[in-house]
Amino acid sequence: MGDFKVIKNTDMADEMRQDAIEFSLKRSRKTMDGANILAKCLKQQGVEYMFGIVGFPIIEVGMAAQAHGIKYVGCRNEQSACYAAQAMGYLTGKPAVCLVVSGPGMLHTIAGLANATLNCWPMICIGGSTDMDQESRGGFQEFPQVESARLSCKYASRPTTLQAIPVHVEKAMRMCIYGRPGAVYLDMPGNLVLSRIENESDISYVSPLPLNPPVSVPPQGILAQAAVVIKQAQRPLLIVGKGSAWSERGPTQLTQFATSTQLPFLATPGGKGVISDLNPLSVAPARSLAIKEADLIILAGARLNWILHFGLPPRFDKNVKVIQIDICAEEFNQNVASTVPLLGDVGETVELLRRELDGFTFNKSSEWFRKLIANSDKNRTVVQRMTDDHTLPLNYYAAYDPIREFILKNDVLIVNEGANTMDIGRTMMPNVIPRRRLDAGTFGTMGVGLGYAMAAGFYCRDYSPATKVLVVQGDSAFGFSGMELETIVRYELPIVTVILNNSGIYRGIGPEDWKCIEGDKTTNVPVLSLSPECRYDKMCEALGGHGLLVHSVPEIRRALNEAYNYKSGPTLINVIIATESERKAQEHNWLTRSKV
Ligand code: ADP
Ligand code: MG
Repeated sequence: MGDFKVIKNTDMADEMRQDAIEFSLKRSRKTMDGANILAKCLKQQGVEYMFGIVGFPIIEVGMAAQAHGIKYVGCRNEQSACYAAQAMGYLTGKPAVCLVVSGPGMLHTIAGLANATLNCWPMICIGGSTDMDQESRGGFQEFPQVESARLSCKYASRPTTLQAIPVHVEKAMRMCIYGRPGAVYLDMPGNLVLSRIENESDISYVSPLPLNPPVSVPPQGILAQAAVVIKQAQRPLLIVGKGSAWSERGPTQLTQFATSTQLPFLATPGGKGVISDLNPLSVAPARSLAIKEADLIILAGARLNWILHFGLPPRFDKNVKVIQIDICAEEFNQNVASTVPLLGDVGETVELLRRELDGFTFNKSSEWFRKLIANSDKNRTVVQRMTDDHTLPLNYYAAYDPIREFILKNDVLIVNEGANTMDIGRTMMPNVIPRRRLDAGTFGTMGVGLGYAMAAGFYCRDYSPATKVLVVQGDSAFGFSGMELETIVRYELPIVTVILNNSGIYRGIGPEDWKCIEGDKTTNVPVLSLSPECRYDKMCEALGGHGLLVHSVPEIRRALNEAYNYKSGPTLINVIIATESERKAQEHNWLTRSKV
């Protein structure tokens, strides 16, 4: 037994206590790297989705994001990832992140960042960048990224220490969603991603930012002035923009406002569905007449930019009065003097205005209303004639007929992109609830389609399972981001894409004419042409989705019903339409050049 040490119970307890102390010391001194600090802050601040393409130096950020419970979606092109993040922010009201590599990866997001800022949609782009000690030495993919982002973003910043990360993340959230929303850029030097802090308790995390920004309303006196102007108007028109879709209670409050005042209304493309397109007060088919002859427009969360022809003649009356409602004071008096500027949240403001109007209703049997209705009816007849013409190859309106029918029977989140495909789609596809239409938007960006579709797909999967995602694109628009079909396959999203294929940008040439092109194609193929009747449906199949080639109205109808039965992965319906199909004749070109 000699020197055998008898371990007493008390010794054992001491040893265990010692172990426990060491363990807890280790825990409180938990080391942590920049990637994990960043991911933890994003999660704490409420980020749910991250779209990106990883590579040096941010692979670890993507991995850390997943470890902290953020849903990571690996895309094929940074632009699409950026479009997806901003659409997700718009749909959920919570900023999503776009994660990209240094240099070219980050620069590929610039069009997306500008698109988000111009649309007033929140998002955070995080770009990896050269290690700080290699800066100005020709570091790998070195570029002035913060400066590059600044023009396209509301705000851009770069933490230079691990301790600074929480403050930068909270500010990024705040800057992109408070006030007028927009894009924010956060630069993450490679050395910061991997460097570690010995003791996590040295990091001061910032408490989560409330994601519903504070709301303001105009003072009562100015609301009273607006009420007087409304009561005096002979030919008033309410114009509903996408600020109304963004406003938290905007859609309900605007619908109540329209119902109680009985004012005729128009929606901008982004404002569609705030008040249902099927509401009898909608004068959408009489748009040109309504804006030209209105003596008062109540502009609810819309800008007098190119989409609304600057509010100027020849499209608007030169004496038109404007009651403008916006959260951004700098927007008032843009292009046209604001008769009454109402600074505040659009929903809350119209609610107060409705009370101020105290039961006032616009006379539905007035000359103005009768004129608008007569003009709507006339334009509807012209469109109906084109819709009913099912001659092959189809014209746009006929191709849209079964799509419209499908939308009226289902809850659909529409992504619509192209030239004629989008313009005609806006009038042919009704929206009955808000934020159910995503299109090229304020910046007129082509290439947003499949990025938006991915966001829509995840949004529906996680928040609105009964809603179907339907993308309707021109063949040219599809081409900008077609490879994202593979992403959609990978994440098993049941997204249906209809391509209205006219073999070109605006319009191409068909296979017969194509055969007649002789000589050097670089000089002889029309600049608008793409491959005639290209089989994009086969591309979708090759990537693991479903593809259908169709030509006629019954075929489109059948394809749409079949497509959603697949339940998983994308379906691409390739609709061959006439290369010479055009929009209904318009009195003015879509882009009214300013003469003033
Ligand atoms: P549209 O494309 O529908 O015309 P815009 O994006 O041009 O819409 O304009 C939207 C306007 O709405 C912007 O000027 C923006 O500042 C404003 N806006 C955004 N959110 C709100 C809100 N909650 N209340 C009031 N205005 C808002
Ligand atoms: Mg085309």
